[in-house]
Amino acid sequence: MALAAGERIAFVDGRLVAPDRPIIPYIEGDGTGPDIWRAAVRVFDRAVELCWKRKRRIVWKEVLAGEKAFKETKNWLPQETIEAFQEHRVGIKGPLTTPVGEGIRSLNVALRQKLDLYACVRPVRHFPGVPSPVKEPQKVDMVVFRENTEDVYVGFELESGKEETKDLLEHLLKKYGWHIRPDAGIGIKPISKFGSQRLVRAAIDYALARKRKSVTLVHKGNIQKFTEGAFRSWGYQLAKEEYRNRVITWEDSGGKPQKGKLLIKDAIADAFFQQALTRPEEFDVIATMNLNGDYMSDALAAQVGGLGMAPGGNINYESGYAIFEATHGTAPKYAGLDKVNPSSVILSGAMMLDYMGWSEAARKIEGGIEKTLASRKVTYDLARLMDGAEEISCSQFGALVCENMEE
Ligand code: NAP
Repeated sequence: MALAAGERIAFVDGRLVAPDRPIIPYIEGDGTGPDIWRAAVRVFDRAVELCWKRKRRIVWKEVLAGEKAFKETKNWLPQETIEAFQEHRVGIKGPLTTPVGEGIRSLNVALRQKLDLYACVRPVRHFPGVPSPVKEPQKVDMVVFRENTEDVYVGFELESGKEETKDLLEHLLKKYGWHIRPDAGIGIKPISKFGSQRLVRAAIDYALARKRKSVTLVHKGNIQKFTEGAFRSWGYQLAKEEYRNRVITWEDSGGKPQKGKLLIKDAIADAFFQQALTRPEEFDVIATMNLNGDYMSDALAAQVGGLGMAPGGNINYESGYAIFEATHGTAPKYAGLDKVNPSSVILSGAMMLDYMGWSEAARKIEGGIEKTLASRKVTYDLARLMDGAEEISCSQFGALVCENMEE
């Protein structure tokens, strides 16, 4: 039995310890998920084999969520799936469908909340040859740390016209004098000091460990003073209290970054969107809240070739729990057509290998992707924008990455 040969990844003194045959749970995902997963898993297995021959191997364990889970168990997110991610600590998933405005809440959000995966980490960089709508996409090299458990994503919403909504409106009027239109729906936006500071701490630790230049706190604090504005203040406070000798804030630096010190600065979200297009080289590691981070990751992904190229990981650095996943969704119109770009899940897998300490395999995968892109044999999304490109399928792209990892 394959699974019996695998072992659990351990977490000792705040560090992951991966055995040579780690069991890794995976969710195939809805829509185009199965196509992408088939292409990606071949790449992961081949990269590990090329690096360590038979010494190391990942023992994959399928767990269910989304449409496949509902079909087989009548449950969208079975408890066994959550337990498997807890038991094995590190996992990977394809995209899951979330209906808009009705029905089940987002399974992605539920998974992140249940495992307290508070940091959504999304590196955004350009691969040579990938078409882009901006002139100098090579200047984009950012890592977005998006807070994953708070903000309007907590799902505390009341529908327009319902009794409980009227109750709350009445209470708000009586207690605070807040006039809100009677036909309004209401949502709550919690941003806590605890949630903000642990996210900013993760971003600063990451930036220091990788010798990055700056961490920018992105917020809309000029308008939302006690939520987004507080995020900014708590971020600066943490930087000064916990990293005094290793960082310098923009204010303390008088606008002149100091050699050997990580610069902590901030930007208002709307200005950030503009400057990320006009002066992307000024941004490096970004720390922000849930909704800003969601918008920003997709917009930045577009600058470096679109959602098909955008990897991500959801991580709790204190428990070691992590689930890696592409930034994109299920792209339902292409489901089962073996058509979409599997790079985002392949690169998410490379992030996972890095996180496990198997960085050699991660570099191998990145090299394989780079070589494949340079050959101009690419999936439809890139082929339609690239001069002289040959369009190949999702599975052919995966196979070509495997070939290109060989040398
Ligand atoms: P989407 O699935 O991300 O697709 C939007 C568009 O992005 C696609 O039509 C396609 O563009 C492009 N795209 C996405 N994945 C691609 C890939 N692998 N290769 C090439 N192009 C790709 O967004 P959506 O249509 O808004 O959402 C569909 C469902 O996914 C929804 O239920 C949503 O809630 C869910 N979702 C899940 C996650 C998650 O599981 N983490 C994340 C986001 C959304 P073109 O049409 O231009 O070809």
